[in-house]
Amino acid sequence: MKANGGKQQIVRKAKQYGAELVGFASVDRWEEYKEMPEPFFPQNIFPFTRTVIALAIPIFIPMLNTTPSIVYSELYNTTNRLLDEMAYKLAVFLNTKGYRAVFFPRDGYGDISVLVKKPEAAFSHVFAAKYAGLGTIGYNHTLLTKEFGPRVRLVSVLTDAEITPDPVQEKELCIKCELCKKCCPTSAFTSGNSLIANMNKYKCAEYHKYLKEHHRYPCGVCIKVCPIGNDRKLYGSDTRKYLKEKEILQQNPDAPEYADWIHLRNFGS
Ligand code: SF4
Ligand code: SF4
Repeated sequence: MKANGGKQQIVRKAKQYGAELVGFASVDRWEEYKEMPEPFFPQNIFPFTRTVIALAIPIFIPMLNTTPSIVYSELYNTTNRLLDEMAYKLAVFLNTKGYRAVFFPRDGYGDISVLVKKPEAAFSHVFAAKYAGLGTIGYNHTLLTKEFGPRVRLVSVLTDAEITPDPVQEKELCIKCELCKKCCPTSAFTSGNSLIANMNKYKCAEYHKYLKEHHRYPCGVCIKVCPIGNDRKLYGSDTRKYLKEKEILQQNPDAPEYADWIHLRNFGS
């Protein structure tokens, strides 16, 4: 499927199924970048794979702002349903065209209790999306996109169709403002030598276990506060409100400037 028409048809289908961003990575990119052990390469997971199609959908800032809350939790659940469904449908579409295709499910873990002990999945959608040109990896370990910053959820379709890959984005989108580090409720990030922070994934996973028990999972603060993304033009960015949230709410849990977020946190979880 090297002809541009075939690729455009896949993009159209993916968008019809609900994807907002679509990118293509040839499996050579995993060999080229060598950023993870080889068993995590898609061509070693499903050996027929020649191309990974990365699909992304957005997270709405106003709902994410209320985290931890049932409102954000349900948004997360909604994106989960959509991601697996669109990837499933796209794999079926490719099958009908005569190509082998499967999808790697969006999360890749059974329960948060597993992540606490083993905070990694068998395949990284973040790296797949980077190699497919959707964005760059930021300080907070998430994929940053021009369109939505890190406020995207990802899934991947693996196929034997040989499709012209999209260019990898060379310019880093992360400006290393470290707002994500300052606002993280578990202080999971510490700066190292590279742009990407050292991350204590166990601390993050433990906190998610607590949130899940209280029906207000996941956390998402490190993607909520990130200033990158055109979605900020639509919804704005109040850095001071993000930075001061923890301190002000500790002093006054009913602080009027957070009344809208507090209201939504008080119900349903
Ligand atoms: S909040 Fe700042 S440091 Fe963190 S990922 Fe976004 S741009 Fe990078
Ligand atoms: S999800 Fe929450 S706890 Fe985990 S790193 Fe991001 S801000 Fe910190």
